[in-house]
Amino acid sequence: MQEPHSNLTEIKLKGLYIHIPFCNQKCPYCDFFSILGRPISFEEYLNAVLKEIELYRDIYNFDLQTVYLGGGTPSVVPPKLYDTFFSELSKIVDLSKVEEITIEVNPESYSKEDFKQLLEIGVNRISIGVQSFLEKNLKVLGRKHTVKDSLRTIENASKVGFENISVDLIWGLPKQTKEDLQEEFKILKDLSVVHLSAYLLTVYEETPLSQLVEKGFFKLPSEERIEELYYTLLEETEKLHFERYEISNFSKGGNYRSKHNLLYWRSEPFLGVGAGAWSFDGTKRWSNLKNLTRYVELLKRDALPVERMIELNERELFKEKLIMALRTTEGVPKEWIEKKLPPEVVKEYFRPTEGGKNLAFNEKGFLVSNFLLAELID
Ligand code: SF4
Repeated sequence: MQEPHSNLTEIKLKGLYIHIPFCNQKCPYCDFFSILGRPISFEEYLNAVLKEIELYRDIYNFDLQTVYLGGGTPSVVPPKLYDTFFSELSKIVDLSKVEEITIEVNPESYSKEDFKQLLEIGVNRISIGVQSFLEKNLKVLGRKHTVKDSLRTIENASKVGFENISVDLIWGLPKQTKEDLQEEFKILKDLSVVHLSAYLLTVYEETPLSQLVEKGFFKLPSEERIEELYYTLLEETEKLHFERYEISNFSKGGNYRSKHNLLYWRSEPFLGVGAGAWSFDGTKRWSNLKNLTRYVELLKRDALPVERMIELNERELFKEKLIMALRTTEGVPKEWIEKKLPPEVVKEYFRPTEGGKNLAFNEKGFLVSNFLLAELID
């Protein structure tokens, strides 16, 4: 086990990600670290997380702008525990400059009362794992919640006063048609939602879904169908005035862009705490171990639960920066692209941004971004 460098106080960590690795179900497509059981209590886990942050305070400077509770399913934890957590957290790090506190919520978890408590704690952004507004798609994805659960959750969050509500949608499902996707947007149109994360269904190795695909029980759509769905998604988001600012993320105006995720895409230093969380300090990435009991034990002994560390050299840092920035519509300095790709390719797949200083993928470019990135980082 390696420890991060011992004196890096000149680095300012701008984002804090807190991983809540508990779930009430395991979805077949998911490759996030989470567990179904409760080998330790929520309180014990959150205390260990606080201890971890305290240990990093001696190594890094914190200049926190965002806090993000992700998972797993952060909404399996009752809000009153987050209340205690945040009051303890404010004794460890300065939260006065934090502009955005997000919590990921599963549609069946929180009541109106719970949302009220979250608002009082200072949470100001809710990200709801809707995945689809069509019952048949939820079945295909193996989700337990219903469309009604999602609608009620959005309504509850909005009614108690949350303005910044995001929903996740997954597209590219077997047999999904253009009309299916249009139907999703007909429902979304009337909801108080200002941010949308629309992810193409990805088959990750070692997930139950990858086995189903391998055995031929789960047939992914053809490339032509994916392309059709992709352009439908762009049409529908535009109709509802959602602006795309990242490959899979759309918001109603600049104010509702995810400030926390923008830190990742701009390669800013952030700390990820909790079992299985990743961090980046500007030159290296590291991840925590994925064993909850061990995670807690180590922190009780004042030891950092780091499992893996990757030091990045200049070239690797450049590649990462390029890949991350090209996910966004801000793009990268145009020289980075022009020196690697022929002018006709640049013209076809990129567009100028930031007053002509940068180049970002255009709609066609995002669709084939994997191929173009492979050329760019070669
Ligand atoms: S998709 Fe969400 S709820 Fe499902 S297993 Fe993954 S983290 Fe848990």
